[in-house]
Amino acid sequence: MTQVQIENVTKMYGSFAAVDGVSVDIPDGSFVCLLGPSGCGKTTLLRLVAGLEDLTGGTLKVGGEDYAHIPAHKREFGMVFQSLALFPHLTVAENIAYPLKVRGIGAAQRRKRAIELLELVKLPGIEDRHIHQLSGGQRQRVAIARGLAIDPKVFLLDEPLSALDANLREHMQIELRQLQKNLGVTTIVVTHDQREAMSMADIVIVMEAGKVQQVGTPVEIYRNPANAFVANFIGVSNLIPGYVGSTTNFKVHDAVISLTPEDILHVEAPSNATLSVRPEDVVIHSDKSVGQLSGEVTFIRDLGASVEILVRVSDVEITSVCTPKQRPDVQIGNIVGVEIVTGRATVLAS
Ligand code: ATP
Repeated sequence: MTQVQIENVTKMYGSFAAVDGVSVDIPDGSFVCLLGPSGCGKTTLLRLVAGLEDLTGGTLKVGGEDYAHIPAHKREFGMVFQSLALFPHLTVAENIAYPLKVRGIGAAQRRKRAIELLELVKLPGIEDRHIHQLSGGQRQRVAIARGLAIDPKVFLLDEPLSALDANLREHMQIELRQLQKNLGVTTIVVTHDQREAMSMADIVIVMEAGKVQQVGTPVEIYRNPANAFVANFIGVSNLIPGYVGSTTNFKVHDAVISLTPEDILHVEAPSNATLSVRPEDVVIHSDKSVGQLSGEVTFIRDLGASVEILVRVSDVEITSVCTPKQRPDVQIGNIVGVEIVTGRATVLAS
């Protein structure tokens, strides 16, 4: 069992808290993404788990055992760095087997394991090449293979795909996810790319300014963001200020938007609040009396696969996205109806 338990973990650099009281439980065998903007403390948290930094406070347990004072090289974790840190003077096989060499494993056994790992990352037959003879994607896979060489208890990756172009990156996201599923190794990946986190993770940990903002499955985080930061960081969200009158309604000026009690999990009625609703859950109607709100169309953008329509309702600009087939017959300047799809919005504390 390699469950990772992080409890009230803090890392101070002087008086600055890079990681500030983080508590999170990472289940055995799960794929977890640490997600957040630059400087939010993701890499520091990963390095704390790896043992490359000392905790200032809190506890770190792996498989129920206190790991705070176990040095990095004794943790038996695999690591892939953003820079990959492959050795240019070594062959592919030597790079992959390097962690085994450090552990005193013999040459024949090391080579056998390197060849086995190359099969696993779908690069058979390149064991004798040098690193400069590989493409970016191949280097990435070699770094992943090296991270897995010791059959790690926990696999840690810091922005492992950030150097790849968009297509290869998406392809590698799927491969990495499948590889992790097959091996069942508890995996923690740092990324600042919300799409990447959403497409790979069982659990996403959203961080901002050293603190955890929300922990949940990708769908939970997208559908039920805990606050405005998460709502905005995970995809696009409309944030509409208003007032929660009861557990079943949200008022925007005179208009009432019906809610379900699940929509307002984060707020106690009555109070001022913000309605968070995804663009795909806003439907524009050419008839201004349809829907809970009405406003003026300010912008229309046809992106081929989708159409984006912006409508100004009082002082808020609301974005709606639909498919070209669903596109309503509206033009810039028209007064239109705005329907917030019931059961798809979340009310956040203002
Ligand atoms: P990025 O996506 O840009 O890598 P991150 O979320 O991984 O960002 P960290 O690298 O964990 O962020 O850094 C968190 C904060 O801690 C930043 O403000 C950074 O400047 C600071 N920090 C990190 N390492 C040190 C250090 N060794 N000494 C002082 N401050 C540091």
